[in-house]
Order: sequence, then C-alpha cells, then structure tokens
Amino acid sequence: MAILTVMGMDLSWADLVGGRLCLDFVNTVGSRLRAEPPPNEHLNDYASLVAWAGHAGAIDEPLGKKLARKASAHPREAAAIVEEAKSLREALYRTFLAAAEDRPPAAADLARFNAHWARAVAAPRILFGDDGWAVDFARGDALTAPLDPVLRSAAELLLADDRYRVRLCESDDGCGWLFIDQTKSRTRRWCDMKVCGNRAKARRHYARQKG
Ligand SMILES: [Zn+2]
Repeated sequence: MAILTVMGMDLSWADLVGGRLCLDFVNTVGSRLRAEPPPNEHLNDYASLVAWAGHAGAIDEPLGKKLARKASAHPREAAAIVEEAKSLREALYRTFLAAAEDRPPAAADLARFNAHWARAVAAPRILFGDDGWAVDFARGDALTAPLDPVLRSAAELLLADDRYRVRLCESDDGCGWLFIDQTKSRTRRWCDMKVCGNRAKARRHYARQKG
C-alpha cells in the first residue's frame, strides 16, 4: 500500500470510501467488529484527529496547524476531545445503522450527537456564491473544530433519503466500515473492493479449492 503522510501522520489506512464525510469519520477504526485481536484504533491522539480531518477535507491546513499548536498548549483538553470524538463516532455508527433500517436511534446516542449540534451550526448565514444559495456556519478554532463539519455532514445524511443507502461492509473479518451504496442496482457489498471484496473472493476461491 502506498504511504500517505498528512501532517507527519501515516494515513495509509484512511481510504475515503464512505461517500460522506460523516461515514469516513465512522471509518476511523478498522476491524470494528473483530474480537481478537482488538480493532485498529486510528484516533490515537489529537494529532491523528487533526491529520485525518485535513486528509478528509474537514479542515484546511492553516487551521490544522493552529489546532496542533493549541493542543500542545492544552494537552489534557485535547486528550478529552479525542475520547469524546471516539464516543461520538461509535454513536454515529449505531445511529446510521438504525437510520438505514428505519429503526429509532438509541436515546443516549442521539443525546451525544445533540450535545455537539448547537456548536456545529453556530452563527448560520445564508450566502449567495458561485454555486447559488448556501448556508454557511461559523468556523471556529476551538479544539472541537475538526468535529463540526462531521456533525453537519451527519445531520445532512440523517435527514436525506440517502440514509437508506448506508451499508455495513459485508466482510466476514469484522471490518465494520460504513459506506453509501450509490450503485443504481444497490448491490455494493464491500467498503473497498480492493480490500474486503478481494479478501472475500480469495476465501471463496480457497473454500472451492479445498472442497
Ligand atoms: Zn470492509
């Protein structure tokens, strides 16, 4: 796999295959559903959160650098935000699965989302730009800033019919990644054909050889 480095962090794992920023955020843990060895946590510290957010286009580089400086000045606050980001991520994972199946979300998961929501949509303004009418929000430089675009993306998806196209990767290795199935036939089964799709095919091939 090609090495991808963003702000000094190796992001080779971070394939943006979710189809939405919020789903790519959900996919910042690998093998989520695997029991042994434990899942591959990629949000290990604030620097990895900022590097991922830059890679995914949630924040730009100047803001990323500013946040990295802030985090080194406030390490305890930054560490707490990483823990909260991981809890929020798992809440989003469960909420999207529920939304895709038209089930109500867990109350605690929705409460966690809403605890961040007001901040993520602070100071809304209607703009008229090159793409026509749009709504824009305050872009703060608080340590929570990388999460705000993720929350807005999540709300947009929950309110759109596309929520019914959210799929859980069918890998039997416990991948646990989510993606939007944008195929017309609605037949996409794997987060990434190159990774989980090939693995499933290789296993079927092996089973055929053996049997
Ligand atoms: Zn997968």
